[in-house]
Amino acid sequence: MKKRICFRTKITHYIILILVLSFLTITAASDYDRAYVQKEISNLSLQALSPYKNTQGIEYWPLCTSKNNQPRFVTGTNPHQGTDLTINVGEHIYPIYDGEIIYIKKDISSQTGHIVVKSEIGYTEPVYIEYLHVIPIDGIDEGDFVYTCIPIATIDEYKRYDSHLHIGRVNEDRTLHYQIYDLYKDVLNWKNGSDLDVFSYPDFNTETNIFTITAYVSSDTENTDYYAGYGRFPLEYITFFYSVNNGTWKSKNIHEYSDNFKYSFNVKQITGSKSNDTIRYYITATRDNNSSLDTTFKDASYKTAYYPAYYAHPGPALTNQLADAIALTITIH
Ligand SMILES: [Zn+2]
Repeated sequence: MKKRICFRTKITHYIILILVLSFLTITAASDYDRAYVQKEISNLSLQALSPYKNTQGIEYWPLCTSKNNQPRFVTGTNPHQGTDLTINVGEHIYPIYDGEIIYIKKDISSQTGHIVVKSEIGYTEPVYIEYLHVIPIDGIDEGDFVYTCIPIATIDEYKRYDSHLHIGRVNEDRTLHYQIYDLYKDVLNWKNGSDLDVFSYPDFNTETNIFTITAYVSSDTENTDYYAGYGRFPLEYITFFYSVNNGTWKSKNIHEYSDNFKYSFNVKQITGSKSNDTIRYYITATRDNNSSLDTTFKDASYKTAYYPAYYAHPGPALTNQLADAIALTITIH
């Protein structure tokens, strides 16, 4: 009997040790390392095509199940560093721009087949697009030029993840992720690209002091009660964090949005500032983990996305130092 208790105690200690170690590993995985680049939209001359075409070879816009920068109820990057699109096993994937393959991983044993294509599209710097969870077409390799009309891969079957395409705009060494809605501002099926990123189309009107931004999430997994399986869901609220003339950081939750998930608020009013005051700000989106519609996120512990996106895994609010590193600036009219 005594021996059994002792054994059990040892097991308990062992489990606690494992838990502590794994917790340390998670937190030590540097929550505040940089993971994102939030670009100003400028000089984009060439809109991207869909990575998927129907059997007639016509552009098809698959549903997004998890946006870039979306908090989610999984163990992967959180928020999600990239966008997931529902495309069936074996379907062809096309590059969204003509370009050159600069990275390819052909080992598909863990469903991590991966291609990165570099393209010049009229930005000042090249655009790198990654395609993940795919099987590269036989024979293609780094250095090959690829074209939007010819497939580069097919969707891999389930090994670790449900079959889907993970697509994202990355930097050359794939360590940072950019928003991609601006590559699709002409695509109504994706709400002008807003389906692909949690935050899109931020705008400050320097005459009226009205700030607008579009923000919503897409479901991670099937929810047959809504939008035929997948859907667009409102956030619980967004939060405007602000510092007036370099004063103390404060915040204001904003719940109201229009039909198209557009939030709109008067910065002068909600900050109580006056003309010529300088406002530094960032915005968070809090996903609703009690939603009766977005049931696949029930009880998730991590709920926050940031604009501008920057940190790998930030908490619900930032320390002054972390806020200072990402804050954007506007001047009140
Ligand atoms: Zn993904």
